[in-house]
Amino acid sequence: MKSLWKDEEAKQYTDDLGLRVYTSRLLGKDPSLVLHGGGNTSVKITQQNILGEDEALLYVKGSGWDLETIDRPGFSPVKLNHLIRLAELEALSDPQMVNELRSNMTIASAPTPSVEAILHATLPFKYVDHTHADAIVTITNNAKGKSRIEEIYGDEVVIIDYIMPGFDLARLCAEVFKQQAHAKTLGMVLLNHGIFSFADDAKESYERMIYLVDKAEQYLQKNNAWDVIPHDDKDFNLDKQQRAELRKKISSLAGQPMILHARKSAKFNAFARRDDLVKTCQQGPATPDHVIRTKRLPMLGLDTEKYVRDYTAYFSTYQQNARDEKTMLDPAPRLVIDKENGVISVEKTVKDANIVADIYDHTIDVILRAEALGGYQALPGQDIFDMEYWDLEQAKLKKTGSAPEFTGEIALVSGGASGIGLASVDALLAAGAAVVALDLNPAVIDLRKHPAYLGIECDVSDRRQMRQAIEQTVTAFGGLDMLVLNAGIFPAGKRVNEIDDDLWRNVMSINLDANLTLLRECYILLKHAPNGGRVAIIGSKNVPAPGPGAAAYSASKAALTQLARVTALEWGKDGIRVNVLHPDAVFDTGIWTPEVLEARAKHYALSVDAYKTKNVLGVELKSSDVAALVVAICGAGFSKTTAAQIPIDGGNDRVI
Ligand code: ZN
Repeated sequence: MKSLWKDEEAKQYTDDLGLRVYTSRLLGKDPSLVLHGGGNTSVKITQQNILGEDEALLYVKGSGWDLETIDRPGFSPVKLNHLIRLAELEALSDPQMVNELRSNMTIASAPTPSVEAILHATLPFKYVDHTHADAIVTITNNAKGKSRIEEIYGDEVVIIDYIMPGFDLARLCAEVFKQQAHAKTLGMVLLNHGIFSFADDAKESYERMIYLVDKAEQYLQKNNAWDVIPHDDKDFNLDKQQRAELRKKISSLAGQPMILHARKSAKFNAFARRDDLVKTCQQGPATPDHVIRTKRLPMLGLDTEKYVRDYTAYFSTYQQNARDEKTMLDPAPRLVIDKENGVISVEKTVKDANIVADIYDHTIDVILRAEALGGYQALPGQDIFDMEYWDLEQAKLKKTGSAPEFTGEIALVSGGASGIGLASVDALLAAGAAVVALDLNPAVIDLRKHPAYLGIECDVSDRRQMRQAIEQTVTAFGGLDMLVLNAGIFPAGKRVNEIDDDLWRNVMSINLDANLTLLRECYILLKHAPNGGRVAIIGSKNVPAPGPGAAAYSASKAALTQLARVTALEWGKDGIRVNVLHPDAVFDTGIWTPEVLEARAKHYALSVDAYKTKNVLGVELKSSDVAALVVAICGAGFSKTTAAQIPIDGGNDRVI
């Protein structure tokens, strides 16, 4: 491990807090030191208060901030002397501690200080850095962990036996530090948890962390416990029905639809195929901090009933020793490891499922290296339980406000790269769904930077490509809840006597046949949608009110509408709703160039504006209006509606 400090970069930060921001980000850049909100840092600064008096403050990382991206407002200023005096109390409950931290901040709007704030305050150095370094938890999750740490560091560090974070840990660290620290102490190792470094200078404190962790990594290398992570490029075959059934079961345990994300990873492939998983992955997380993301154990195999039995037994065993009454959390696994399916992470959002996968990626390193060092040995169940059911940890997961309507659900939109398709993609993402956009246009791949967006270049009239796209969807997210059939073509106007067979067949193949194939291929997935499958079909005003010159288009959309009606009849027993939208005169789509628009307006002897609003309500229709109806029709308000045909045209006297 190398220091990332660069004098050139550091120069931009001229004050103490600025340098704290800089070195915190350096720590955050290395996921083998801290992962997703893990770790915390602080700096002690004396500032004048509003009365003109000097006041010593601890600027400590606030909850909700990641070290990698932290900035000045991410550090909460807390009165230092008060914190030091708190550490001398005999006891302090969690609610009392949080109250003391929050009510002794000098900026009322600052985030809640880290639960390790008191610990930071008691260490008599200006800068304090804390990480959950992989190498340290690897060595300490081991039968001889403590003696190995002594062997590596001699008297360079103070060692603290495992104890849950919070007030008791802060008090213990303060005591042990007072008794054991000396002029050459560089840090403090917390067994099964992580490591602290400190100094009066930002660079020195940061580089002590790097020095100490590097020593641990070198120790692993010397003991042939470093290059022991196998990779296997052979991916697993996907059984999409099995995956959708698994998602439905897990969602029902979680009480809401969940994303099942199978990351493409050679490391995960190799790990899932091991023969010793019962021993290695069924012990517990690498550090208790991870339990709120991963639960104590991954589900090994696909037996959800057994997982629930085991989780319930774990809860009832360990809650007996809890300080207060606990309510069992949902018993749904957050990780599935199966010899035929690989490693699958489970969460309410794609972002969170990615976090679980990231954590497990590092957990595998820790487990396999600790195994090579003589045997992985996680903390006892009680310690993990206490952390999982610790109110302060649970608070980290509780976000304010209610979740968007389609949280945990998955939508697939054909023709998603432009017009109504793209507007539907955006509207569904905004409503909380994970969204797959299919389009012929390769730009679809990178069209949106959202973590829950998956763009796939796909010709929907090519069955092989479509099947692959559906497999990709199920691999990435676990199933399908909503299907938006939008892809279609509108050929140049031709009268019936002029239509050639090729044009007719081409329109039918894209506007009708491809949709039949999509429906058929997605049926088994929609059938297993936790809240019932939904199909939204983009029809056309031309179905109820056709015009001359568009026979192929109108006939294809009419046939599609009839297909939708029969589908609604057949799939109703599976809880799948099928509805059709008939938009008209949506001009912000690819086919309506300014020239075409002007020509059509001229044809009716109207201005472009008058032409655009030529409907009963006199309103202009946009793709986003149709997309809003797609979201509505897939939502709770239409939960008892199927086979409906809804116009979205501002009111058309021929349709009415
Ligand atoms: Zn920690």
